[in-house]
Amino acid sequence: MKIATIELYEVTLPYSGGVYQLSGGREYRHFDAVIVRVEADDGTEGWGESTPFGGTYIAAHARGARAGVEEIAPHLLGRDPRQTDRIYDAMDEVLVGHNHAKAAIDAACWDLFGKSVNRPVCELLGGSTGIPMATISSIYAGAPEEMRERVVEHRSRGYLGHSIKIGALDHEGGPMLDSERIRACLADRQPGEYFIADANGGLVPETAMRMLRLLPDGLDFVLEAPCSTWRETLSLRRHCTVPIILDELVMEDENLARLIALDAADGIGLKITKAGGLTPSRRQRDLCRAAGLTMSVQDTVGSDIAYAAIVHMGATVPPRLLRCILNSRDMVTLETARFDPVMRDGRVLPPDAPGLGINVNREALGAPVQAWSL
Ligand SMILES: [Mg+2]
Repeated sequence: MKIATIELYEVTLPYSGGVYQLSGGREYRHFDAVIVRVEADDGTEGWGESTPFGGTYIAAHARGARAGVEEIAPHLLGRDPRQTDRIYDAMDEVLVGHNHAKAAIDAACWDLFGKSVNRPVCELLGGSTGIPMATISSIYAGAPEEMRERVVEHRSRGYLGHSIKIGALDHEGGPMLDSERIRACLADRQPGEYFIADANGGLVPETAMRMLRLLPDGLDFVLEAPCSTWRETLSLRRHCTVPIILDELVMEDENLARLIALDAADGIGLKITKAGGLTPSRRQRDLCRAAGLTMSVQDTVGSDIAYAAIVHMGATVPPRLLRCILNSRDMVTLETARFDPVMRDGRVLPPDAPGLGINVNREALGAPVQAWSL
């Protein structure tokens, strides 16, 4: 089997909640999605998505991802898409880094591989645990009572995890406002729920410690991405007893190896396109497992195609280490594909359909912006 065609699509995904607010005054109204279709010489096709959370989140942006696909795509024609590690080596040979560009191509190869052997992607990644997965909400930063209401609303829709965005600047209310946000969001806490206070790197050790000291003892939550640098994170780690989860600081395998070597955190947000696709995510999953780190399987955001990849990867994480998966498609209003995971009491399992189990809505994507063929 050979890759015969690669197509690149550009799609705008409106944010479903109006304006998404993140620490440092960052705002997002829509997301620029990079979608790739890979077709083999026997006509089997696979789809992958890479949607950066705007250019101010991590060192990735959609136009850069598309430029990366342009660099890589011609070199993959004629290669076997089922050899996912070898495809990745070939991508690395022509372009250093640029995980977001590689992620969409990599996911498309896994989808294609699954369809070619009539098996779901989760089975190719080691097999589904068969344990339904809890989903996590994304509660953007706002006034404490208003954030509490959004947690209540997500709870009513079956969400068991809640990622509360914090990281107020001093003039916005600083550590006092963040502590009130955490208290408000946890006020109606139900058994079995999991709370993350996610600063997206918006705190420094001083503001983080002040915020933690303003909270009453016994609140059950983990602190995600408190600081934007390793030094700050390690300093805070030495001074606090709240579990720390890393997200933006862990992109490459090497970052995860560093986390483990320095004992810098207790878990990670395993975001598939941040890692560079399903191939490196599988490796990071195994490194986390070896080190006893918890994982929330997510993405930087993404429509149905990205969500399908999340569900398949999440299903392969041992339940004692899997906290939640992100229903990324709930954050956008455009349906790029039909994807019907199995739902049990609000929890999620991958479908039995081959590959990612998606039916892409070609009309929503429009014509490809570029294509390469043998
Ligand atoms: Mg995060």
